[in-house]
Amino acid sequence: MTSASTVPQASAALIGESVRLPNAAGLHARPAAMLVAEAKKFQSIIRLLRDGEEVNAKSVVAIMGLGTQQGDAIQVKATGSDAEDAVRALSALLAQGCGEAHEATHEVAPTPPVALVAASTSFVSSNVLVGVCASPGLAVGRVVQFRQVTIDVNECGETPALERGKLDAALLAAADQIELLKLGLGDPLGVKILHAHLALLQDPDLLELADHGVSQNQSAGLAWREAFGQTASRLEALPGAHNALLRERGNDVRDVGRRVLALLAGVSTAQIELPAGAILIADELTPSDTAALDRSKLLGFCTTGGGATSHVAILARSFGIPAVCGIHEGALTLAQGTLVVLDGAQGRLSHSLEEGEITLALAEVAQQTAQREQDKLGSAHAAVTTDGQRIEVVANVRNAQEAQEGVALGAEGVGLLRSEFLFDDRLTAPDEDEQAAAYCAVAQALGPQRTLVVRTLDVGGDKPLPYLPLPREDNPFLGLRGVRVSLDQPEMFRAQLRAILRATGLARLHIMFPMIATLEELREARGILAEEAAATGHSDFLVGVMIEVPSAALLAEQLAREADFFSIGSNDLTQYTMAMDRGHPKLARQADALHPAVLKMIALTCEGARRHSKWVGVCGGMASDLLAVPVLLGLGVQELSVSVPAIPAIKALVRRLSLADCQALAQELLQLGTAGEVRARLAAFAP
Ligand code: PEP
Ligand code: MG
Repeated sequence: MTSASTVPQASAALIGESVRLPNAAGLHARPAAMLVAEAKKFQSIIRLLRDGEEVNAKSVVAIMGLGTQQGDAIQVKATGSDAEDAVRALSALLAQGCGEAHEATHEVAPTPPVALVAASTSFVSSNVLVGVCASPGLAVGRVVQFRQVTIDVNECGETPALERGKLDAALLAAADQIELLKLGLGDPLGVKILHAHLALLQDPDLLELADHGVSQNQSAGLAWREAFGQTASRLEALPGAHNALLRERGNDVRDVGRRVLALLAGVSTAQIELPAGAILIADELTPSDTAALDRSKLLGFCTTGGGATSHVAILARSFGIPAVCGIHEGALTLAQGTLVVLDGAQGRLSHSLEEGEITLALAEVAQQTAQREQDKLGSAHAAVTTDGQRIEVVANVRNAQEAQEGVALGAEGVGLLRSEFLFDDRLTAPDEDEQAAAYCAVAQALGPQRTLVVRTLDVGGDKPLPYLPLPREDNPFLGLRGVRVSLDQPEMFRAQLRAILRATGLARLHIMFPMIATLEELREARGILAEEAAATGHSDFLVGVMIEVPSAALLAEQLAREADFFSIGSNDLTQYTMAMDRGHPKLARQADALHPAVLKMIALTCEGARRHSKWVGVCGGMASDLLAVPVLLGLGVQELSVSVPAIPAIKALVRRLSLADCQALAQELLQLGTAGEVRARLAAFAP
């Protein structure tokens, strides 16, 4: 493993066009691993260039060490027999976001279903240790302290050849362990993280560092410890706040490093043993520690290190358990078995509580669990308000599997099929047959009685596709985005429409266009759809408009004359109404969908639709927010398209609401001045 790879024939270096990185957090572990996997398919020596710096494109740690940021201009340089193909493929992959363009920019952090989130609790005492929320939820359990064991190594080795052999064997054994862990982990994100760990085990820069130590007569253990220690420290020392994510990737390098080191030293890194009802407290937890935890016994965890972006936090969210990172050091001194309350949403760990406080917390956990179970029990029934208004609760999905999960939880259909997920993470567009198979699979999962709303391709600007030759734009959010891309690329648009139309009859087919800003756009898109429908003999479908920009809300009455329904994309409608980027680290919190300005846009939309007896749905994150549902109903929204786990709770809430009360509430809220005032009034509105 540590031996030198084949050196390609000497030839002139080829340098590609510069590519602007779309990744919100730069090239951190996962995109770097994907880039390296692609680079390794080529014989050529490949380097990444940025501002005069140059690193090995086949080394994850070298790429991470570059400390890239979103928007950085990167060039690919290759030398060797397949240099041209390498430059082309890697430049395209970089432009595409190395597998995460959408992950980074697309989803507004969903409001977790209320049942998982602790409300502001009344049991907090002065014995509270504070950190940051890594994963929401509330748990009462007993402290289990965990510390990494120190692994000692011999300093001097035998011959370099023998030490090299030991290191190679440990690297192979570590890869086997990680593969095993991957098998036991259903969560795709966790699998991706472990995949990045596997790439680290083959990282040429890391291996070269270790090999250098071995050739200086160091033992394999010492050489390896120095190599991964130096690499991790370099990542952790990267300057600038934007590199928090990269610094945390030092944790990944240490994690993999310790695994190999333990194998070299013959120390067991067995799974952390947990008693039932455990709340784990550690200074650091490596991602593989976390992945290997017994989830049937773990209620939550706290770490003094790390942050909300760490892999550990990501894993906790996918497990659905509360976690707090960066907790006060005092947590490390709590005795084993101490009874504590962990409030993930508030980032608090409370200890030394009075019996009454524990009782209160336990009651709250029990109430949340019971509520969740009860919501699930009733989720197959329709969502009808106490005064008889039927609200259709449907799901936001990306594929047939999610559609099935939605139906199992009571979704009455799909209100938003994000078709763009078929188009990203690849180097060429899916053809008509491939698309048709995917749309038909979703439709079949629903059946002819259920609604399927397919959104046509919603990419461009901030969500580039490598195979779409779109110009670089200064203001991508105001550029070629949504339906504008489809109108700019009519052949691709027509192929998508033909593919969608093939799902006619398998479900109640609806087709909607994203980011319509003008009537002309709707007419043009509808015209093309009509031509394709006529050519293929399909007519049984409805046509909708996503209301995502203020001009569409202001033109709702005119649009409603020519569309069959509206679906409000509240994520975009909020950012365009407030002129605040929905992903901006400082502004995103103020870009609040409950701002009265956004509510007025929704009111205008509903009013325009009502004049022509058309229905209005909401498919942005706001529809999954229990706080927002009463005002949406009161403004006239009749369909809520929500994240799959939120379906039971949203349906249950609708059943507790009176439409008349919601209407009165909505009128009141439209008069308020700030999002804070709206939120306060909504919090006091108990159905
Ligand atoms: C929205 O903008 O609210 C929406 C549903 O679209 P996306 O989040 O995919 O842009
Ligand atoms: Mg949108």
